[in-house]
Amino acid sequence: LEKIELIKKNIGLYPDFPKAGVLFRDTCTILRQPNAFQALKEVLVQCVRVHFVETECIGGLDARGFLIGPIIALELRIPFIPIRKRGKLPGKVTTEEYTKEYGKDAVEIQDESVTAGAKILLVDDLLATGGSLQASCNLIEKCYGEVIGCLVIAEIENLHGRAQIPVPLHSIVKY
Ligand code: 5GP
Repeated sequence: LEKIELIKKNIGLYPDFPKAGVLFRDTCTILRQPNAFQALKEVLVQCVRVHFVETECIGGLDARGFLIGPIIALELRIPFIPIRKRGKLPGKVTTEEYTKEYGKDAVEIQDESVTAGAKILLVDDLLATGGSLQASCNLIEKCYGEVIGCLVIAEIENLHGRAQIPVPLHSIVKY
């Protein structure tokens, strides 16, 4: 509980970013404070060990999922695979489009990075509407992987993103 308080205290709050009326929660501020970053790592790893024991692979979302996914994967000695925005990954890729507040976006994964049937845990820094994680779940399914759960640092509860996610979702800090 102490660790969770330390993590929450180190999430920066920026009103009116990226546009008026939005309160942006900046999780990167945690990385400037080694004690908070260490607490975050411990809480995330513990969370996988308790709630997602069967995890065989960590999938991280572009871009802040890349900051936490690899430290969890390395600690657990399992692979990390990146889920990127369209056009960034080389080789044969699979794409999933999704609708955002303004227009369309797409997530992409390298086909060779997903073993058929692999039990994958998806991680990102923050759950807002749930669109990115939902699309990522669909993407993994297209590649014959199995998403066993989602793990985020923070969840904006009144946007009800959780309702979009077809697997168990765990968040450390709730707003
Ligand atoms: P969603 O797809 O759930 O609506 O939005 C989540 C995605 O947008 C995540 O990848 C997250 O990094 C980014 N995002 C949206 N709002 C915020 C915010 O307030 N703070 C941070 N750190 N990321 C946000």
